[in-house]
Amino acid sequence: MNDKDILQRFLFENAPVRGEFVQLSTSYQAIIQQHTYPAAIRRLLGEALVVATLLSAIIKFKGRLTVQFRGKGKIKLLLVQCTQQLHLRGLVQCSDDIAPDELWEALHEGTLAIMMDPDIEGGKRYQGIVAWQGRSLLESIEGYFKLSEQLPTRLWLAVNDTSATGFLLQVMPKERPELYQDHWEHLQHLTNTLTSEELLCLDVRTLLKRLYSEEDVRLFDPMPVIFQCNCSVKRSENAIVLLGREEAEHELHEKQKIVVTCEFCNTEYVFDRVDVAQIFKKDENSSHLH
Ligand SMILES: [Zn+2]
Repeated sequence: MNDKDILQRFLFENAPVRGEFVQLSTSYQAIIQQHTYPAAIRRLLGEALVVATLLSAIIKFKGRLTVQFRGKGKIKLLLVQCTQQLHLRGLVQCSDDIAPDELWEALHEGTLAIMMDPDIEGGKRYQGIVAWQGRSLLESIEGYFKLSEQLPTRLWLAVNDTSATGFLLQVMPKERPELYQDHWEHLQHLTNTLTSEELLCLDVRTLLKRLYSEEDVRLFDPMPVIFQCNCSVKRSENAIVLLGREEAEHELHEKQKIVVTCEFCNTEYVFDRVDVAQIFKKDENSSHLH
């Protein structure tokens, strides 16, 4: 097991507060290297990957969680997905020349959404729209929990060129938070002393000891997080069927082949004339069956 890419949960024994620590290294690097991104975008993508992992572990559902941003400015699309098995993938469509100080402007003009697609066939998608708040993804997500989930939640994120890490504290659902307000404030206060350096370099055991020396914290086993895209030959074949016979013929005439490129991981699926003929034949046979 790769011990650098993990999600680890913990609980405070004397307060209804839970926490999570996420550290992404191999998966984060794999994802940011799939496209040529400006530095500011690599960081933003790192933050979004950490946020999606943290959220997929606290929101109870079976399926895939998506953090999506759509904008009209220099960032057109940011899409990060995490499955319940902690398989991550993500992409950004943006201008090549976006500078760090333009990031906020680009984000402020768009919409951020959190979506959950259940595993079951025909399951209904849940979608929550998140208003941009403050100057960061982090503040917007904290705002989302305040409004939609009614759960006091705090996040701390740190990203550099090789790692993306995050830390989350949340008052547990169904408890009466007002009874523990002082304790909750105190825990936040302690966690605010956390520096990016510490978050990026220390393991969770050391972090917890350093932050909460007076607290009784129960730490659960780490769970591995990996980069995994769910693109496949089958999905690419479906894309060709959707393209239609005429378009497919045209493409074959021009290039002698059809290349379906996965937007996420850039994997290319190449089909020649024989493959394409078989794809349409298979599709025809299966439609006859129905
Ligand atoms: Zn892919």
